[in-house]
Amino acid sequence: MKYFKRTQTKKINIGGVTIGGGSPVCVQSMINTDKSDWKAAVRQIKELEEAGCEVVRISLPDMETAKNVSKIKKQIKIPLVADIHFDYRIAIEAIKQGVDKLRLNPGNIGAKENVEAVVKEAKKAHIPIRIGVNAGSLKSIRSINDNLSRSKELAKACMEHIKILENNKFYDIVVSLKASNIAVSVEAYKLIASKRNYPLHLGITESGSIFSGNIKSSAGLGIMLYDGLGDTIRVSLTADPVEEIKTAYSLLQSLELRSTGVEIISCPTCSRCQVDLINIVARVEQAVSKMKNLKKLPKPIKIAMMGCVVNGPGEAKDADFGIAGGKDEGLFFKNGKVVGKVKSGDWVKTIISTINLYQKPQGV
Ligand code: SF4
Repeated sequence: MKYFKRTQTKKINIGGVTIGGGSPVCVQSMINTDKSDWKAAVRQIKELEEAGCEVVRISLPDMETAKNVSKIKKQIKIPLVADIHFDYRIAIEAIKQGVDKLRLNPGNIGAKENVEAVVKEAKKAHIPIRIGVNAGSLKSIRSINDNLSRSKELAKACMEHIKILENNKFYDIVVSLKASNIAVSVEAYKLIASKRNYPLHLGITESGSIFSGNIKSSAGLGIMLYDGLGDTIRVSLTADPVEEIKTAYSLLQSLELRSTGVEIISCPTCSRCQVDLINIVARVEQAVSKMKNLKKLPKPIKIAMMGCVVNGPGEAKDADFGIAGGKDEGLFFKNGKVVGKVKSGDWVKTIISTINLYQKPQGV
């Protein structure tokens, strides 16, 4: 049961995936393959699909890249978003090629007629537009020193883009206001959420490598999600985009917003621990990441792997099943009761075979 209420936003359809209006928080990413290699784009999108990505974005820096969209679309299952800056003709080509959503700031594509042309085609194709304001590309923010004023400037720029679309009677809008500073981003998102009910695409941009980026993204996105904000998330990492998907699900599961199928509870170990718990948990996690059907389970399986009897039995009893360590072995708990002892060398095998029982139609 979630302990916070999600903000009600407008429901938007992105090529069959709905975001907003109480839909599950959608996980998305962006490919980073060579713009001229559409086959590499397909390969990376398939890897992302396999990892659980639900919407994927591609940069279309020129017309040549835009003309590859339909070839890519034919080979992939998830909706494709075209990221476009400055040239409205690329947006129109992307729509013709069958893209499912545009990420485009209408204030950056020149004359009123250009906006009208894009809006007309987007309406005809029934595709939404995400306005994505990024602090890094907002010149007016650079001379401002305090975070609150910066967030106001970010929200103001976003509102200007929103109004351009609204003045064209276009309301199929998603919004993002990304900054590499958490406070600036969070406050800017809050400001927009207080003015409009368009779904929010959350992200902390340029957050860094796997380690620092995961921490920064989790802190920033976690604050907003806990506040009830956010309809789709993209974790931005300087890394293989598949890592973004893993982090996104782990973050959403920790807030009980999505389920990866398995929740692992394990202790940090200390001098009381007499089993190789670090290695055991890593091996279980590795095996679980390869199980394809877990997300279909009606609720996540909670598994406890604990180093000793201090906190072990309590956590193991509280989980669906678990093991509380002793000397080279552990007490095996299922549904709150001790059902046997397992040698430390057999923990991984026992845990995996028990998870497999949950995946069978009759359960355990
Ligand atoms: S459960 Fe036991 S081994 Fe694990 S951290 Fe607590 S006291 Fe240490």
